[in-house]
Amino acid sequence: IPDNHQLHVFLFPVMAQSLMIPMVDVARLFAARGLKSTIITTPLNAMNVSKSVERDRLSGLNINVQIIPFPGVEAGLPEGIECLNEITSPEMMPKFFKAMDMVQEPFEKLLEQHRPDFVVAGMFLTWATESTAKFGIPRFVFHAANFFYLSAKESLRLHKPYETISTDHTDENSSSFVIPGLPDKIEMSTAQIPSHSESSNFVVEMQKKISESEVNSYGILVNSFYELEPAYAEHYKTVLGRKAWHIGPISLLNEHAADKAQRGKKSAIDEHYVLKWLDSKEPNSVLYVSFGSVSRVNDNQLLELAMGLESSGCSFIWVVRQIKKDDEERFLPTGFEERVKGRGLIIRDWAPQLLILDHQAVGGFMTHCGWNSVLESISAGVPMITWPMFADQFYNDIFITQVIKMGTPLGPKEHNWLDSKNVSLVKNDKIEMVVSWLMGDGEEAKNMRKRAKEISEMAKKSVEEGGSSYADLTSLIEEMRIYTKK
Ligand code: UDP
Repeated sequence: IPDNHQLHVFLFPVMAQSLMIPMVDVARLFAARGLKSTIITTPLNAMNVSKSVERDRLSGLNINVQIIPFPGVEAGLPEGIECLNEITSPEMMPKFFKAMDMVQEPFEKLLEQHRPDFVVAGMFLTWATESTAKFGIPRFVFHAANFFYLSAKESLRLHKPYETISTDHTDENSSSFVIPGLPDKIEMSTAQIPSHSESSNFVVEMQKKISESEVNSYGILVNSFYELEPAYAEHYKTVLGRKAWHIGPISLLNEHAADKAQRGKKSAIDEHYVLKWLDSKEPNSVLYVSFGSVSRVNDNQLLELAMGLESSGCSFIWVVRQIKKDDEERFLPTGFEERVKGRGLIIRDWAPQLLILDHQAVGGFMTHCGWNSVLESISAGVPMITWPMFADQFYNDIFITQVIKMGTPLGPKEHNWLDSKNVSLVKNDKIEMVVSWLMGDGEEAKNMRKRAKEISEMAKKSVEEGGSSYADLTSLIEEMRIYTKK
């Protein structure tokens, strides 16, 4: 292999907005460091992915999109579904992952044909470790997650502390346990972890496969930065002995407004309008409310949320995903939009989130605690109101409110996937109180804002030349160069 050989990396995310968005950024990050990046995706996702890398390509970076067929119909899904975000019932989930498993064969053909130097595959692509091994290609797992979650999850897998306590969920205290072996004393309840929820079997099985394929992979790329969670980065690498690199916050790669507005799907609102709207507001005065690309709150909860936001008197941007224009009055209180006109902006479906969070008028983020959203908020220095719903979101909630202390909790402490009807209701007066607290002038809220700005500065430094994430990426690339030469 010649010295001037350009390292070639394949990047394969599972098709879900929140997995594709950061993986596309990882591909851009590698390309910006002189590598050739090839993103693998399916026909219906290819256009959005190509759009996201267009500017880089035009500026001469070696970044490509390779299409792979998606056997959704063969796996039992309706025609036209190639993205996890389009799944509307828990029963469709295993079918989606069956289709992802069926992609293994065409993926191996691509490996044989292109022989990339290494592969970064999303954590759900558990078979990728085996596939790459057939060709002697190192596989990295990309986690859109933090070291705290990875460490806590591993501790639960190894020690199963919840097995020795009551499984009666009605009493929250009786079902709580301490996660063993972590740098901080962290308590959780069984209602917050997926292995005790309705969809358990599939999820538990999947988690087992993920852990195995992780252990057997070459290493793990983590979308986090050292200064955010030094004790957990050390714990994961040293105590648990995992080979991992922290390369985030990846979203900070998006410096231009055009890049910030162009992540994932096309925004449902003109971004210039949003920016103008935000420009007219005072610094730190707007609350951004969004529950990510999968979660939904049920109709009653939506109503309470609307009432709480209205009575808080605060300015807000609210991304409402389930409303169809005709059904509006069913979900929102009568005349709601009219009454909050000027101070409440409702965006239906997809918002230019990064653009919004990075605006100085935004002073709070009510979030479902998806890790991308959380890290985007951390990077922008925006404190959070946490409302986790499922998966790693409960861990992220604990991380935000107890470890880095950059937010205050609000949502129920129960696992809730796809509009579960059984989850307890958060009433409007509580919502109003928490919103007013975070957006208000109290000493504690002011301190939290100050802390958020400090953490954001650390985040920005970490990805600059000389910063911790920049350096870890350099050492990863160096290691791949040496590996390839061998
Ligand atoms: N996102 C966006 N606009 C939206 C909703 C989401 O740009 O209206 C982006 C958001 O910035 C983040 C990702 O989609 O990068 C959501 O990922 P996250 O991990 O927060 O949550 P998930 O969607 O997996 O629940």
